[in-house]
Amino acid sequence: MKLEAGTKELILLKSGEIALKGLNRGSFEDLMIKNCKRALRDVGNFKFYKAQSTIYAQPVGDCDMEEALDRLSRVFGIAALTRAAIAEKNFDSIQEAAAGYLEEELMAAATFKVAAKRSDKTFPMTSPEICRELGGWLLERFPHLKVDVENPDLLVVVEVRDFAAYVHGGQNPGAGGIPVGSSGRAMLLLSGGIDSPVAGVMMAKRGLAISAVHFYSPPYTSDRALLKVKALCEKMTRYCGTIPLHIVPFTEISEAIQSHCREDFGTIIMRRFMMRIAQDLALEDECSGLVTGESVGQVASQTMASLACTEAGLTLPVLRPVIGMDKEEIITISRKIDTFETSIQPFDDCCTVFTPRHPKTKPRLEEVRAEEQKLDFEVLVQRAIAGTTKERLSPR
Ligand code: ATP
Ligand code: MG
Repeated sequence: MKLEAGTKELILLKSGEIALKGLNRGSFEDLMIKNCKRALRDVGNFKFYKAQSTIYAQPVGDCDMEEALDRLSRVFGIAALTRAAIAEKNFDSIQEAAAGYLEEELMAAATFKVAAKRSDKTFPMTSPEICRELGGWLLERFPHLKVDVENPDLLVVVEVRDFAAYVHGGQNPGAGGIPVGSSGRAMLLLSGGIDSPVAGVMMAKRGLAISAVHFYSPPYTSDRALLKVKALCEKMTRYCGTIPLHIVPFTEISEAIQSHCREDFGTIIMRRFMMRIAQDLALEDECSGLVTGESVGQVASQTMASLACTEAGLTLPVLRPVIGMDKEEIITISRKIDTFETSIQPFDDCCTVFTPRHPKTKPRLEEVRAEEQKLDFEVLVQRAIAGTTKERLSPR
């Protein structure tokens, strides 16, 4: 895309599912705009306005538009987006914008097609007329081109709207989903693994703001393992926005379990401690649910019987968005959201350090509770919470 001096450009954002929300639509769009502004905070100064399920992000002064587009492609609630040239609402201006703004693309393409949308019905040409006239004019200006309506190399799009006409080379898919914050907030149990960051971003896509909690067991787990979790959390903020991260010292609990409880129940009791502490911290952060990266049958602690024991006694719902997914499917998403490379860095987390040799795959809740009776559950929970630190991670 090329900008002549004086050509103006903006980013068009099409809201997707938001459009279904009827009366709430205005507040959904306002929230999405707020999230877009946050994402662009350090890219440049943008003016936002909205009309007809489109949000306009117009730069005020210089800014890196490619970077802006990249940031906005990770804001949930946006179904499609594109950079576009702003033309006056007359055909000359539209022609010049198409030939100038899309010059490089037109030169590189062998075939093209014009698509026109006219939401301003006072514009004197119909959409088919715009397509025909602009198509013909571009063929004269760029004689190497041919029209291909089925499968063109380049789509030249003209949208005649309220304030102006916009010209672009076709829109890209956005992140989809609904705006972060529109569904409230949830507490993610974030390990250093592959699954939990994916789970957190999946729930952010459904409109949940994310708080996170990580359990660490120094000296069994290293400082670098903790840094890795913070790095993961920071990657997630590109989709989730700011994430408050709670770091809970878990060594005392792990050691108590190891010295007092049957080894084969160790993992499940550890998981129950984590859930219970996560729930207390969740209430502190005004979360209405917990999120984990569990998937049925992946490991012993994720059989149906284990999951039932893990969540027994909790009051908040436990959301497990990857519950029915294969590891490969989870990995595909983790690559897409760019957490995979960080997740596979080889640092131990507390579960792997204290993993029993033969964990129970079908634990019975009464038995688990009987083992737990050997510990001072409440005291251990409260001490871990008292030692918890909290920091806010934001996109860099
Ligand atoms: P992941 O890839 O997310 O680590 P996993 O396959 O290793 O998952 P487990 O270790 O059994 O599975 O953990 C299941 C879930 O429990 C994780 O997805 C995460 O939500 C939570 N969890 C496990 N360990 C921790 C931890 N140290 N801190 C916070 N949450 C944890
Ligand atoms: Mg893990």
